[in-house]
Amino acid sequence: MSKIVVVGTNHAGTAAIKTMLSQYGSENEIVTFDQNSNISFLGCGMALWIGEQIDGAEGLFYSNKEELESMGAKVYMESPVLNIDYDRKVVRALVNGQEHVESYDKLILATGSQPIIPPIKGVELQKDSLEFKATLENLQFVKLFQNSEEVIKKLEKPGINRVAVVGAGYIGVELAEAFQRKGKEVVLVDIADTCMGGYYDRDFTDMMSKNLEDHGIELAFGQAVQAVEGDGKVERLVTDKASYDVDMVIMAVGFKPNTGLGNGQLETFKNGAWVVNKKQETSMKDVYAIGDCATIYDNSRDDINYIALASNAVRTGIVAAHNACGYELEGAGVQGSNGISIYGLNMVSTGLTLEKAKEAGFNALETSFNDLQKPEFIKHDNHEVAIKIIYDKDSRVILGCQMVSREDVSMGIHMFSLAIQEKVTIEKLSLMDIFFLPHFNKPYNYITMAALAAE
Ligand SMILES: Cc1cc2nc3c(=O)[nH]c(=O)nc-3n(C[C@H](O)[C@H](O)[C@H](O)COP(=O)(O)OP(=O)(O)OC[C@H]3O[C@@H](n4cnc5c(N)ncnc54)[C@H](O)[C@@H]3O)c2cc1C
Repeated sequence: MSKIVVVGTNHAGTAAIKTMLSQYGSENEIVTFDQNSNISFLGCGMALWIGEQIDGAEGLFYSNKEELESMGAKVYMESPVLNIDYDRKVVRALVNGQEHVESYDKLILATGSQPIIPPIKGVELQKDSLEFKATLENLQFVKLFQNSEEVIKKLEKPGINRVAVVGAGYIGVELAEAFQRKGKEVVLVDIADTCMGGYYDRDFTDMMSKNLEDHGIELAFGQAVQAVEGDGKVERLVTDKASYDVDMVIMAVGFKPNTGLGNGQLETFKNGAWVVNKKQETSMKDVYAIGDCATIYDNSRDDINYIALASNAVRTGIVAAHNACGYELEGAGVQGSNGISIYGLNMVSTGLTLEKAKEAGFNALETSFNDLQKPEFIKHDNHEVAIKIIYDKDSRVILGCQMVSREDVSMGIHMFSLAIQEKVTIEKLSLMDIFFLPHFNKPYNYITMAALAAE
């Protein structure tokens, strides 16, 4: 029997614990620590909750301490791990205010990520705040259930009428929509001159920017935030180009891996994430890292990368669980597949954008096609779809894909995800069997048409 200690019990840690206990029963002793008071909050629900598109937060959790304990784990909540002695194989945590020492045979690190605190005047955290509370009232970071709950409570009281969201990645864009749906005036600020530039090329992001503007959201792109000002609470946001009088500022400029417990002894990536192989093994024997605290193999670049997503957290948790329990398993890697739905405009992408593919040194080309989802004679629920496929001119291998529509085209992007993973060429895609039924699509499907149009 091995004793396996899991540090961090959120999406990645929970997936690992559940896999170990459901697949290997009581073969191992499983002990886990988390500094938070709740498990498995789906951050993606935050915007839906604020924008009142769901009734409340109840459905935003899928596990808890009781469930993990009923499966056989020893779970310490509100118990931060303070340090780890990798030579002695010992974890030191604070449990009920007392130092608690736990030895391990194998260790799974699932400490996740933390909001990036940009070096901006007025933007700082309260000392020792584990819940990312800012010193300035109504300056909000978004990560935990507690952060969402705090924002919701503040919105229930009068006084918050104008909100600035800083960071126009997918979280910032979702929150901008949510505040506007809640009846607030919203300004969305980013230093880049567009939104979601990491996932989509400019023609696609322009569609999203227009969508946001059409719904009354003010876009302040290409502006560097210089200060958040106010007497004790937020009063204004100052950029290098303008000043905005606002009552609340949401800082959503990204996340960094939370890897302080590595103590400089585990190999790290350029952003500090723990470097892992496809078995989730770190550079230290018997120590695994999963989820947002670790790197992940990116098939579109054929290299390790940092892609912080819940989808990656659960999969890497499953892989580490098997390896820690003695069954060797390699993850398939990822393509950074993602999706967003704003006021009914759905965008999905996987792999590299054209811009990113060129930056990565590929001889990248794009082929695109716009069409209706279904034949013209279908008069209802038949929307336009735009697709763009990125491929390498020399090897012909597909590198990325983006789709946008008011239809739900999300299932299509999963196919491209597999295509990138399996190095499928654009020619293979052009002759792939895509069925036709007017209820679903056209005889010449836009995927086929885009692939046939490749140079
Ligand atoms: C607003 C928002 C929306 C999102 N939307 C999506 C989405 O739509 N789709 C998607 O795939 N992803 C989404 N994400 C990203 C997703 O939430 C993360 O990728 C995911 O939470 C990573 O899970 P994790 O378990 O690796 O890390 P985390 O969720 O960061 O969990 C780490 C855990 O470790 C604990 N911990 C840290 N340090 C210690 C310590 N020293 N001792 C004890 N415990 C410790 C923490 O308390 C925490 O519970 C969203 C994130 C946010 C914030």
